[in-house]
Amino acid sequence: MENLADKLNREPPEVLRSIKLISGIAEELGYPVYAVGGFVRDIILGVEDFDLDVVVEGDGINLTRELSRRLKVGWTAHIRFKTATIHIPGEVRIKLDVATARREIYDLPAALPKVNFGSIKDDLKRRDFTINAMALDISRDSFGELVDFFDGRKDLRDKVLRVMHDLSFIDDPTRILRAVRFEQRFDFYIEPRTLKLLKESLSKGMLEKVHNHRLRDELILILKEPDPVKSLRRINKLRGFKFIHPSLAVDEKTFALLKRVDELYQWFAGNFVHKHKHKVERWLLYLIVLLENLSMVKLKRTLQSFAFHKKDIQKVISFKKDTAKVVSKLKKEISISGIHKILFPLSYEVVLLMLLKSGDGRVKRKIQNFLRVYSGIQIHLRGDELKELGLRPGPDFKLILKELLDAKLDGKFSTREEELLYLKNEILPDSAAIPAFRQESKKP
Ligand code: ATP
Repeated sequence: MENLADKLNREPPEVLRSIKLISGIAEELGYPVYAVGGFVRDIILGVEDFDLDVVVEGDGINLTRELSRRLKVGWTAHIRFKTATIHIPGEVRIKLDVATARREIYDLPAALPKVNFGSIKDDLKRRDFTINAMALDISRDSFGELVDFFDGRKDLRDKVLRVMHDLSFIDDPTRILRAVRFEQRFDFYIEPRTLKLLKESLSKGMLEKVHNHRLRDELILILKEPDPVKSLRRINKLRGFKFIHPSLAVDEKTFALLKRVDELYQWFAGNFVHKHKHKVERWLLYLIVLLENLSMVKLKRTLQSFAFHKKDIQKVISFKKDTAKVVSKLKKEISISGIHKILFPLSYEVVLLMLLKSGDGRVKRKIQNFLRVYSGIQIHLRGDELKELGLRPGPDFKLILKELLDAKLDGKFSTREEELLYLKNEILPDSAAIPAFRQESKKP
């Protein structure tokens, strides 16, 4: 039996400390305890992984309660399944999932299984692929022993993805998407029988039977991969996008855009993130492009049925709805404040993708300047100072601030003193909304 204690001992100190602590508590409670799944796979591959899945042959909740007491951190539990999650703070943040070894029975295809408690072997048997169905014993007296009932170690060495049994993709069709994700991430290959079963499940329309929120989560995981385009190409080749919408066409034009998304994101992240409050979601950039060929009606229906977050839905729709209009406005001669007015209300994801989508050099320059300069420009005067001038908060107050910002964007002044003068001389005298100021300014 292979022993991987050496590799375990070379894990980052926070991870090793947590494992040793779990191992000690499990011994006191008399439970055999294992690290399982992706964590074991990644240890063997030498890939960093801070998601630690632990399975106990005992009560996972008991173990977690004790662990959280000693670490003085909170935890959440799923009492019915006897699973719990703890986030262990530190230089690297570790997510620890503790489960009670279990057996699953699928009564209905593509539905969630019934769960009973069982042995580590039962627990490993219910997993997706052999490479994810290994365990590492972390009990004190057998620390580091590899538990490999299903030849996962060999498949990992041979770079092979293999399901555990022939009904795997019928029981849980989301495994189709997981297979593609792991195949592309690790440059593995789906062995012939598994590929045949995968294709059969696809052609039976099994993926479409899964709850949309589970499909959404798997899709997001794909879009969060370092190179999601490889997986998207693979799904397209398998004619697998029907699960999103039967008429979704991802053509070469879309793939050409998808291929440029990462470069665009890196450019933004490398140059501007510190300047902008809002983080750009890289996965969402991919989603927006992926869905660009759906009609507006189908797009809205799809996004809603997958229950994406409202703010994400708005961004996808805004790209579809606003791009042509915005690009055509930006083709014209336009002031800087005009550019700001058009682009500022849009999300950064949408603005970035407009940059990608537009072939016109003038439009591109305007968007780039917006991101580089205009979007960061603010007026000097703060609200309190304006109140001291007799302005009262309200809609007109906002209008005045907007007018001041526009003037600043258009280069009418730059220093604080000039700004104050501009406000007093150019904006306030014309503003019917500021009786207090008008009265004051009329004073001799
Ligand atoms: P990643 O590196 O992407 O996080 P992972 O293998 O850790 O990959 P998770 O989704 O965190 O993936 O799942 C943890 C483990 O749970 C997997 O390694 C696998 O053993 C099991 N698992 C997850 N999803 C399924 C599924 N749909 N069917 C069967 N087993 C699954």
